[in-house]
Amino acid sequence: MADRIWNFNAGPSTLPLSVLEKAKSEIPNYAGTGMAFMELSHRSKPYAAVHAEAKSLLFDLFAIPDNFKVLFLQGGASLQFAMIPMNLLGEGKTADYVITGAWSKKALKEANIIASANVAGSSEEHNFNRIPKSEELSFDPNAEYVHTTSNNTISGTQWASFPDTGSVPLISDMSSDILSRKVDVSKFGIIYGGAQKNLGPSGVTVVIIRDDIVEKCRDDISTLLMYKTHVDKDSLFNTSPTYSIYLLKLVLEWVKESGGLSAIEESNEAKGKLLYGVIDSSEGFYRGTVENDSRSLMNVTFRLPSEDLEAKFIAEALSAGFGGLKGHRSVGGVRVSMYNAMPLEGIQALTDFMAHFAGKNG
Ligand code: PMP
Repeated sequence: MADRIWNFNAGPSTLPLSVLEKAKSEIPNYAGTGMAFMELSHRSKPYAAVHAEAKSLLFDLFAIPDNFKVLFLQGGASLQFAMIPMNLLGEGKTADYVITGAWSKKALKEANIIASANVAGSSEEHNFNRIPKSEELSFDPNAEYVHTTSNNTISGTQWASFPDTGSVPLISDMSSDILSRKVDVSKFGIIYGGAQKNLGPSGVTVVIIRDDIVEKCRDDISTLLMYKTHVDKDSLFNTSPTYSIYLLKLVLEWVKESGGLSAIEESNEAKGKLLYGVIDSSEGFYRGTVENDSRSLMNVTFRLPSEDLEAKFIAEALSAGFGGLKGHRSVGGVRVSMYNAMPLEGIQALTDFMAHFAGKNG
């Protein structure tokens, strides 16, 4: 990997090298078909096998119960912000939204186009530096669903555990932490996320939806926007993003070969321990921006003593082979995005660099 850098991009983000090499080796002739996978018809047998295998691997690895469907859609998580209220809300119906960052606000905005949604809790007044505490949440028992954002990619917070919403279905945007840790999927009505962080490249959005929620969905909206369409057609109502789904399958195979979700979770915990450990022991040189019990294992956000030092850190890091460390343009600072495909070795190398930089500039 001589010419590759440690890629800490927030998404699209680093992919396992073995996946890239396998994909490369299968261009231009996929499995003896005489064409690249991206040239195959989405109605062909070789494509159908990959589509089915990607689904089956996700069911196994994420321990998805049988009463759920897995859909491969397009439009990103952003289209799910709209599809969820379009399918589940309407005249006289409402939903609860917990606001933990910019992405939750975007989801709420879409819901308010269809209906009037409630804010069931928010950490905006704390600058999104933590997840609301359970006593700060108030749910409407008549809501159609409760929407949460599992991991807040920009501010660097993550729900340690999810709220109990009783019989109201819990929905979570897991764009930036899906398949990074064990989750009791049975507790959710819908889980969704773009693939471009933990699951593969951009272009495919995974939606995991419970059967009884599909039943409740509206069927008087545009065909392509109805969940029922995609459930009935097994995500093949129209041309699917075939190459993204093929890469998703390769990434899921890599997760399985790496030891499955337990091994991935352990690796993510080890990376978090190492990086937060270095931040906490830097005597204030590196300052974490979020409260300890809300810290994300996917996006680690911190500040340096000045914006000049932050710019210097990011520039010198890039020269030393560490890319993608600039915090989101709306918040500044430094952000280390370390999804599943970032090995512990990458965090070890980065923390060595951080210690050296603090020593020189502290
Ligand atoms: N939700 C979260 C938590 C995200 O991090 C992102 C993208 N970074 C989105 C939603 C939007 O996803 P997309 O670009 O796939 O629409």
